[in-house]
Amino acid sequence: MNKRQIFDQVSDMEKQIGELYEQLGDLKSKLGDLLEENNRLSMENHHLRNRFDATEDEDNLEESRTEKQLKEIPGEGYDNLARLYEEGFHICNVHFGSPRQDEDCLFCLLFLNKTK
Ligand SMILES: [Zn+2]
Repeated sequence: MNKRQIFDQVSDMEKQIGELYEQLGDLKSKLGDLLEENNRLSMENHHLRNRFDATEDEDNLEESRTEKQLKEIPGEGYDNLARLYEEGFHICNVHFGSPRQDEDCLFCLLFLNKTK
């Protein structure tokens, strides 16, 4: 190998190292973006989880309240509710007390069946 060839080879390596260095910088900035996004998603996930838990707690509360209501309704209460429904009002906990506008409401019917 003569001096010229050695010089060319060293030049080649220098060029490759330069390219590798550039790629490394590229990857580094992509990694930075990914870490940033990961951080953002973690925070969002945490936030959503909190909200989900809060909503779930509310649902459980609502459910046990409805169950309690159902248990507490004696025959007479049921008749009153059935009459209210016949008169065209919602008796379900979704729209309770609002006019039905002559349409049957599934929630109300479910509620009536459950209460019987
Ligand atoms: Zn209803």
